[in-house]
Amino acid sequence: MAAEHQSDALIVGGGIAGLLAARGLRERGVTVIMADKAVRVGGRLATRRIGPGRGDHGAQFFTARAPEFQALVNEWSAAGLVYEWTRGFSRGTFDTSPPDGHPRYAVRGGMNNLAQHLAEQLKPEVQIESSTRIVSLAPTPTGWQAQSDDGQVFNSRAVGLTAPVPQSLAVLGVERLASADRAVLTAIEYEPCLTGIFWVQGEVEFPDGGALQTPDQPIIWMADNRNKGVSPEAVVVTVQAGPDYSRELRHLPETAALKLLRDAIEPYLVAPAVVKEGQLKAWSYALPKTIYPERYLLAANLPPLVFAGDAFGGPRVEGAALSGLEAGRVLAACLR
Ligand SMILES: Cc1cc2nc3c(=O)[nH]c(=O)nc-3n(C[C@H](O)[C@H](O)[C@H](O)COP(=O)(O)OP(=O)(O)OC[C@H]3O[C@@H](n4cnc5c(N)ncnc54)[C@H](O)[C@@H]3O)c2cc1C
Repeated sequence: MAAEHQSDALIVGGGIAGLLAARGLRERGVTVIMADKAVRVGGRLATRRIGPGRGDHGAQFFTARAPEFQALVNEWSAAGLVYEWTRGFSRGTFDTSPPDGHPRYAVRGGMNNLAQHLAEQLKPEVQIESSTRIVSLAPTPTGWQAQSDDGQVFNSRAVGLTAPVPQSLAVLGVERLASADRAVLTAIEYEPCLTGIFWVQGEVEFPDGGALQTPDQPIIWMADNRNKGVSPEAVVVTVQAGPDYSRELRHLPETAALKLLRDAIEPYLVAPAVVKEGQLKAWSYALPKTIYPERYLLAANLPPLVFAGDAFGGPRVEGAALSGLEAGRVLAACLR
């Protein structure tokens, strides 16, 4: 028989927003279950093995501008997990602003290690259900009941939805929302990103920082994960297509799209280097195009339900983290 779970709060999504929301709730004495559809938590903090090495194929680095996030980054740095990778790349910056000298942080062993570290810190108080896709969410007299695709039932008094907004809306059903919330949430859109990671036998030579950032080109990013410190065993190159080029490539067969991403590395291979293997990841929801101005949205006229993630308050890893922290606070306040 499929399991039936009880908790004060259910967090759907174990990206950085969900992990930090769960941390905030646990610190406030709230019982939490987290469900993530993937085998490993982390969401877009994603690292993959390829050949004898590995590469980050989601977020590449992060900056810390808000003191609250900088405090977390300092904590992770002190734990030896996070390090300053560089203060800018050869062309342009991630924010397409002039080079600003901000530290760009990376994670030892790959970005996903940060998520694994946060998940370990949550155990055993927080129950983390990976490989668990929540497919429905309905209000009950005491809160919420969620169901997963493998038939598990989750009863809770409050829910945090931290997946990209279209995925959260698919779980809830837009018709449950008050019309103002529905209008705001259905307007949130994301840009796609096609990413290739390639194992190279031999050497590659990118300019400063081992990465090339070209936001005005079809290929917006290339980075050498060995130079970055993520893949000491082998050269693994990450290549990302910009939003327009990603939309174009998505219509091609996977092998053709992968070849076009791979071709971008050719000028940087140092003879006789060869690309031995490539893997493609098509992110449908890479970066939000629309940002809701607040760090969370508390749904009106429903039991406690908060939407959070990188589309709330500010984008990227830092925005998602701050949104998760705030979602934890507001859910705990609702439960008091
Ligand atoms: C290719 C790429 C490059 C990027 N580069 C950078 C960068 O260099 N710097 C930077 O700061 N940011 C970057 N970003 C953005 C950054 O990764 C995100 O802003 C941030 O990681 C979002 O975190 P999140 O917790 O809001 O969402 P996510 O990380 O997407 O987490 C959502 C989680 O919800 C889960 N989920 C979804 N639906 C369900 C369901 N029905 N049931 C259960 N679980 C579900 C998913 O499995 C996922 O783990 C990049 C993103 C991509 C894709």
